[in-house]
Amino acid sequence: SRVLLTGASGFVAEHILEQLLDAGYWVRATVRNEDKRRTVSTLHPGALKLEIVIVADVGAPGAFTEALESIDYIVHTASPFHFSATDMQKDMLDPAIKGTTEILEAAAKHERVKRVVLTSSMASVIDTPLIPGPGGKVYTEEDWNSVTLEQALSHPAFAYHGSKTFAERAAFEFMERTKPAFDLVVLNPPFIYGPIKNKQSLTSLNTSSAVVHSLISSSKSSGVPPTQVPLWVDVRDVAHAHVLALQGGREIGNKRFLIQADGTYTFGQVVDIVRAKFPQLADRLPAQSGARVEGDGEYSGDNSKSKRELGLVYKYSLEDSITALVNDLLALEETR
Ligand code: NDP
Repeated sequence: SRVLLTGASGFVAEHILEQLLDAGYWVRATVRNEDKRRTVSTLHPGALKLEIVIVADVGAPGAFTEALESIDYIVHTASPFHFSATDMQKDMLDPAIKGTTEILEAAAKHERVKRVVLTSSMASVIDTPLIPGPGGKVYTEEDWNSVTLEQALSHPAFAYHGSKTFAERAAFEFMERTKPAFDLVVLNPPFIYGPIKNKQSLTSLNTSSAVVHSLISSSKSSGVPPTQVPLWVDVRDVAHAHVLALQGGREIGNKRFLIQADGTYTFGQVVDIVRAKFPQLADRLPAQSGARVEGDGEYSGDNSKSKRELGLVYKYSLEDSITALVNDLLALEETR
């Protein structure tokens, strides 16, 4: 089968691309510009089943018309993930929402397309971290972030949460309204950690990897910052979830799935893992040890639907994930 993967230069998409190629799929990967095309190409030297095409603006009308020729499945990951938007509408909401609706509209015109897998986020499930988490709540696929457009336009963190929530809602509304021949599977991961395949520079780190880099660029005298979202998952498990979402039967169609490791975690645990595994970093870590600090979110999420219906087995522990990530961050520091 032939898969269109959008945003192939991204942290998560690079792992999806590798797993799709390993599974024998033919992949057309989209990137935003020639530089990114070259980067992705370099990561897969000699790949015979990979074509990389440029889609400069995912939200532009007709952006995906050509890219969808002869495609059976779509994995749509491209969406801005950062908390530094200055124009919330243009930098965040438009590419997320229009990117999603454009690809769905284009897919509806291509009879071959059987399924669209959308990388959404836990951000469209839980309320924005600026609002303290509800103590003891266990989130499920039934929950939706209550963020409003007004809030999304008022603050970069709300803008990200709004971008994911509104894009996902727009996708389900599109399916409901137009009842296309293909179906939709939505994946909702929380913070994603693990190895960085596309190692460019510390300044271009994706947001979740940058969070850990800032934790290990601290000092003994600083405190552990609040974790806020106490949920995480390994990037390799997330990529595997995307492959399983392509392969699953019709019964998983038009559903969303929380994709997260069992239990909860705190930045305190991350710091302790780094201290144990990388003794040379001791001076760059908060001396304080322990699981919880004030401001840590105290809710959790239920990942049982992903295990039951997608057949996802979570393979990586927090220690595996953080160790792999920190190794790659240190390698990037060497190239600075
Ligand atoms: P990256 O920043 O590494 O990847 C984002 C991808 O989206 C890149 O390919 C990027 O292209 C593309 N992109 C960003 N802005 C635009 C835009 N305005 N127009 C078109 N393409 C754009 O982050 P991740 O890999 O982490 O994110 C991938 C997906 O996973 C996103 O949908 C994100 O919301 C979701 N996600 C990530 C989580 C995490 O913790 N990492 C958690 C939950 C969900 P380019 O390389 O050219 O910048």
